[in-house]
Amino acid sequence: MKAERHTEPPHVVILGSGFAAVMILKKINLKEYRVSVVSPRNHFLFTPLLPSTTVGTVEFRSIIEPIRKTRKGIDFIPAQCMEIDPESRRIECEGVEVGTRFSLDYDKLVIAVGAENNTFGLPGVEEHALFLKELVDARNLRERIISCMERADLPGISEQERKKLLHFMIVGGGPTGVEFAAELHDLIEESMEENYPGLSRLVKITLYEALPTILGAFDQELRSYTMRHFDRQGIDLQLNKRVKQIGEGWLEFDDGSVEEGGLILWSTGYSPTPLVERLPFQKDRGRMITDEYLCVPSAPDIYALGDCATIVSQSLPQTAQLAMQAGKYLGSTLNRKAKGKEIKPFKFNNLGMLAYVGENKALAEVPKAHLRLRGAITYFFWRSAYLTRLVSLKNKVLVLFDWIKTRVFGRDMSKF
Ligand SMILES: Cc1cc2nc3c(=O)[nH]c(=O)nc-3n(C[C@H](O)[C@H](O)[C@H](O)COP(=O)(O)OP(=O)(O)OC[C@H]3O[C@@H](n4cnc5c(N)ncnc54)[C@H](O)[C@@H]3O)c2cc1C
Repeated sequence: MKAERHTEPPHVVILGSGFAAVMILKKINLKEYRVSVVSPRNHFLFTPLLPSTTVGTVEFRSIIEPIRKTRKGIDFIPAQCMEIDPESRRIECEGVEVGTRFSLDYDKLVIAVGAENNTFGLPGVEEHALFLKELVDARNLRERIISCMERADLPGISEQERKKLLHFMIVGGGPTGVEFAAELHDLIEESMEENYPGLSRLVKITLYEALPTILGAFDQELRSYTMRHFDRQGIDLQLNKRVKQIGEGWLEFDDGSVEEGGLILWSTGYSPTPLVERLPFQKDRGRMITDEYLCVPSAPDIYALGDCATIVSQSLPQTAQLAMQAGKYLGSTLNRKAKGKEIKPFKFNNLGMLAYVGENKALAEVPKAHLRLRGAITYFFWRSAYLTRLVSLKNKVLVLFDWIKTRVFGRDMSKF
């Protein structure tokens, strides 16, 4: 009789709990691999609806999913990876709760650590601006918006001080800045007069962009539509305005002008995470370069994907869409490799872009079908597209319920 072989399956360590990591988890065969996820964030966050949480259209917990629940049978380690040693196939980690240091061995390592907010090293940005990348950022923004309104509503405050508190300043005209401006406008139109009578006429939303246009990745016609739509909504667009430094409640520009306000949102794109910056691998504008199979060429059995990586001589976007496709691909590729099957290179399929621009209107650009849509019907497309892409049934139900709740009862402006 033949003796049964009891070999341990190879250990796959995934760094990160974002779009790329979750799609690998959904695909990978746990009979072929033992999987550990290392991330400082114990949940997956559906970022496309993050701007909606800043004003209460959607609640915070409706767009997150605990990572341990996304796939039973995996090991989740709440830590961040500090160093990678490809020679000994070992990573060094630091626990998030108590800062304990430990090391972990891997057979295959997947780097999916995303990217960070780009501050361009400008003075005052870290200290005085708010960001919109994680759930904690959205909560800070929501609290600041309500705090500005509460303070402006106090008796004995001058009209000038009220106007300053109610001036909301957004730096960066990409999708995040535009969607935040749109959501904030909706909040003021729909909920402010009822909660703070007489104050809404003092509110000003300004979006500052260093380039001559906003939404640079979208088609010219959709950009012009958004600019006209913002103009109608009273959102002040300041183009060709480059910030020089930031202080407590003020922005100084290259031309020497200074603007004051109660809130500053900084949303000017991404830079590499400290881990990726430290890694000795080849990079393209801070993103790790991989081959077409998502492997880091100089490091056997290390893969990189999502916002932190790009494929050699390709210009890939930093989007959830790309991270999801790459995650799905890598999960299936690892399964095929385990069975000794042939593997194919990764190909990004650009399905298009969506953005919310306020007052129940959205943009959609689908390059393959040469479609450029805008307006109220596109808004329903925007909503249904995001509803179907949420990762769990629980998220879908909660988001749908939040949308209905907001329509029927308005937004909750409580501060606690
Ligand atoms: C407000 C907002 C709205 C957006 N809207 C859209 C949209 O509508 N459509 C779209 O396609 N894209 C959108 N994006 C972009 C999209 O969120 C990113 O492209 C996507 O999250 C990238 O996925 P990822 O897996 O590479 O990284 P992420 O999803 O950012 O995940 C990175 C993970 O790595 C973890 N991590 C970081 N450092 C370490 C470390 N040292 N060790 C271990 N783990 C680490 C993080 O905690 C996180 O869990 C939006 C982004 C934002 C901020």
